[in-house]
Amino acid sequence: MARKIGPTCKLCRREGKKLFLKGARCNTDKCTFEKRQAPPGPPKRFRRRPSGYAIHLREKQKAKRIYGIMERQFRHYFEIAARRKKGTGEILLQLLERRLDNIIYKLGLVSSRKTARQLVNHGHFLVNDRKVHIPSYLVKPGDSITLREKSKKLLIITESIKTDTEIPAWLSFDKTTLTAEVKDLPKREDMPADIQEDLIVELYSK
Ligand code: SF4
Repeated sequence: MARKIGPTCKLCRREGKKLFLKGARCNTDKCTFEKRQAPPGPPKRFRRRPSGYAIHLREKQKAKRIYGIMERQFRHYFEIAARRKKGTGEILLQLLERRLDNIIYKLGLVSSRKTARQLVNHGHFLVNDRKVHIPSYLVKPGDSITLREKSKKLLIITESIKTDTEIPAWLSFDKTTLTAEVKDLPKREDMPADIQEDLIVELYSK
């Protein structure tokens, strides 16, 4: 599986906002963005105003980085979404939200999508009682997600669930059995408010 390598915190500086890519560290004063917010590269006085294309591009890059996926897969999601007659942007976000690694993160079982991806790869999770080790697996309403019995004792999990996490309305989660259920497809208000999906659709439609 292709994955992004290189300095992670630079991505937050590039997008001009915290993307929460490093788990617990992002909420501490060790967060690089809290200390330095200027984008990487030459000082601001040498920068030109971003073009329309650059604005669209940045929005797409931001979404890709939040969900930790590469260009090829992101475009693949867009192509699936574009086959629908309307609501391409919302369907694109829905596909991103339905990824198994995103669900594990949203349930508060781990502190970052990157860690979620590693745990899924290592086969710690079951979907409908079957082991799934594909982070991009798309869940659907009615699916149940849990951990393998021996994985429930992983320190990373037991520590993470001590933190209160707001569970999205389209999921339910039982902390005692560590079992979640997908109640519905995510609605726009359940998905990141700071992604302007229309800009991404316009970029790919040019
Ligand atoms: Fe971004 Fe701060 Fe987390 Fe680094 S620590 S990934 S700068 S939010």
